[in-house]
Amino acid sequence: MNNAELAARDLRHLWHPCTQMKDHEWLPMIPIRSGRGVWLEDFDGKRYIDAISSWWVNLHGHANPRINAAIADQLERLEHVLLAGFSHQPAIELADRLVEVAPPGLERVFYVDNGSSAIEAALKMSYHYWRNLGRAGKHRFVTLSNSYHGETLGALAVGDVALYKETYQPLLMEVITAPSPDCFERDPGESCEEHALRRFAEIETILRAQADEISAVIVEPLVQCAGNMRMYPPIYLSRLRALCDELEVHLIADEIAVGFGRTGTLFACEQAAITPDFLCLSKGLTGGYLPLSVVMTTSGVYQAFYDDYATLRAFLHSHSYTGNPLACRAALASLELFAENDVLARNRELARVMGEATAALNDHPHIAEVRQTGMILAIEMVRDKATRTPYPWRERRGLTVYRHALSRGALLRPLGNVIYFMPPYVITAEQIHLLAEIAGEGIELATR
Ligand SMILES: *Cc1c(COP(=O)(O)O)cnc(C)c1O
Repeated sequence: MNNAELAARDLRHLWHPCTQMKDHEWLPMIPIRSGRGVWLEDFDGKRYIDAISSWWVNLHGHANPRINAAIADQLERLEHVLLAGFSHQPAIELADRLVEVAPPGLERVFYVDNGSSAIEAALKMSYHYWRNLGRAGKHRFVTLSNSYHGETLGALAVGDVALYKETYQPLLMEVITAPSPDCFERDPGESCEEHALRRFAEIETILRAQADEISAVIVEPLVQCAGNMRMYPPIYLSRLRALCDELEVHLIADEIAVGFGRTGTLFACEQAAITPDFLCLSKGLTGGYLPLSVVMTTSGVYQAFYDDYATLRAFLHSHSYTGNPLACRAALASLELFAENDVLARNRELARVMGEATAALNDHPHIAEVRQTGMILAIEMVRDKATRTPYPWRERRGLTVYRHALSRGALLRPLGNVIYFMPPYVITAEQIHLLAEIAGEGIELATR
């Protein structure tokens, strides 16, 4: 079996995510045979460094021996059981561990089974909380421009990436969109903090005027990942937390992408020293092994649902694979690895290397900026550096970088014109330098 044979067979029946399938008339599909550490190997025996952690899920490398063993052990005991009326040890232990490591005050763990569904659950819980308090008028959600929260209809509605959203607009609930604190949009001479505070004043105006109708504000703390890895400083979050408290509006933190060390701290909210009312986690939760997500919330929220059955205040939301034991065991093993290997400390050094290895690209005539938050580093290509005019999207320049990287043995799947590194934490300094070299070459080709 080689790549070409498998790709041909694939294209007979599969419909791939986030893909115009016609592209595969000229863009080869790459069937992967195995993975180990940062490496993926295809059926022709070619190897690729997984520089984007397979869409931001992998933390400790592919085929991590510790996580493999935990799942194998669990498989011998219990593969799955429903979580209503029943429970199991992995779900209980993982909830304990998550409460220990999450921002203080998040004492309840609601299991879901993917990121978008966690967002759906958090939105419903927030509204339902106000309804249970007799304030059903608080039914609207505020989101930030350029945000992304998933692809199901509710999650899509609170997101703002036109590419994914526009087509489905007639199907979506109406939300209030406040301008993002995204530092890329700052004025010349303005600092990221000044810009974030200016943008904060705008959401403050919205919230003060409409708090009576608003259930929650939903944000991606520090990095809007799917929105081209745009970044903003923690001060926006600390101000927003205080304002939401004052106006009795929930704050939903979507750390599905940025959680579990991506921004340098275990959770991005820590850098603003805040506790959201709802914390959504998925992607890295299982170390990149199995679909699982959680909504964490406070005892206060939980208590608003706790009553006699006949009051009909319960949160009657569920998914078939809620809290799957195999996934929970993978998550527990992943958290153990953080503690044992002092992953966050090691990442500080790796993050420094990523910055250093790409610093020269700042001077490139078609790079607007190289930006970084912890283990996420993004390089934004533009047509005109002075005015930050983007390349027209139809030119698909990122694809040139993608294809060059593949030829050189790296998986660097860009977001439009933004090349980024979001590697597994087992990457080495040497591999980071290689990625920077490959990205540099690809950018040369793409901006000619
Ligand atoms: C990926 C992502 C989601 C959606 O998670 P899925 O598991 O893909 O449904 C939601 N929010 C953010 C910030 C994400 O990056």
